[in-house]
Amino acid sequence: MGRVLAVANQKGGVGKTTTAVNLSAGLALAGHRTLLIDLDPQSSATSGLGLHPREVEASIYHVLIDQRSAEDVALETKIANLYLLPASRDLIGAEIELVPLERREYRMAEALIQIRRDFEFILIDCPPSLGLLTVNGLTAADAVVIPLQCEYYALEGLSALLDTIGFIRQTLNPGLEIQGLLLTMFDKRNSLAHQVVNEVRQHFPDQVFESIIPRNVRLSESPSYGTPAMVYDRRSRGAEAYAALTEELIQNTVRS
Ligand code: ADP
Ligand code: MG
Repeated sequence: MGRVLAVANQKGGVGKTTTAVNLSAGLALAGHRTLLIDLDPQSSATSGLGLHPREVEASIYHVLIDQRSAEDVALETKIANLYLLPASRDLIGAEIELVPLERREYRMAEALIQIRRDFEFILIDCPPSLGLLTVNGLTAADAVVIPLQCEYYALEGLSALLDTIGFIRQTLNPGLEIQGLLLTMFDKRNSLAHQVVNEVRQHFPDQVFESIIPRNVRLSESPSYGTPAMVYDRRSRGAEAYAALTEELIQNTVRS
């Protein structure tokens, strides 16, 4: 049974998609069959893997709303062991279309029941909101990865996310764990960034990944090549940081 990880934070621009794409590529490169689910209407994970959202015929939208099977909609990628359940523009409407549907919070969880058997890891790239799409992602997940940008407002909004996780545990998904808080876009020359790292580690001992993702231009330019930095420039500092994170995640998963 694959482990399902939701990459979530309702703040935009904190590194969710970069993390979802590079971590799933890292897991695939390490030989683990991995499925990346793009749950964000912006479709950046889909385009980051080289697929133009306009080329997508069926997407996670059709899985959630029309109950198409995830197996039918998942696509191979150019990276061995890595599969993609793409997003499409229709997903913008899904937030509202889900409202009247039966078991609206469980659509993703139910869609994954079969396909989980075929993968070791399933990563869900959540949109920057705490609406029904993210609730579906968190209800389907075993654990959450929470990227936090190393800047002054890093912790802003985190309590709302932790409240949502607490609510989901009480109601929809009692087993939901926090896999870890991930510090992203770290700039070692910036003393504030060091303060943020210390503060987050003090507030959440044992819940912060040891691996820290540096600010690195390869990570920001690789989406325009439709290839994760993990593949496009494996020697870059950004890719090496995601490789270390991949290793840390695998170790933690074996231990738990
Ligand atoms: P989110 O999915 O949370 O909105 P993204 O992963 O899309 O965030 O990142 C926001 C922007 O910052 C993107 O342009 C991305 O390429 C860039 N970015 C993300 N992580 C890094 C990093 N470690 N170094 C440099 N740029 C980054
Ligand atoms: Mg994103």
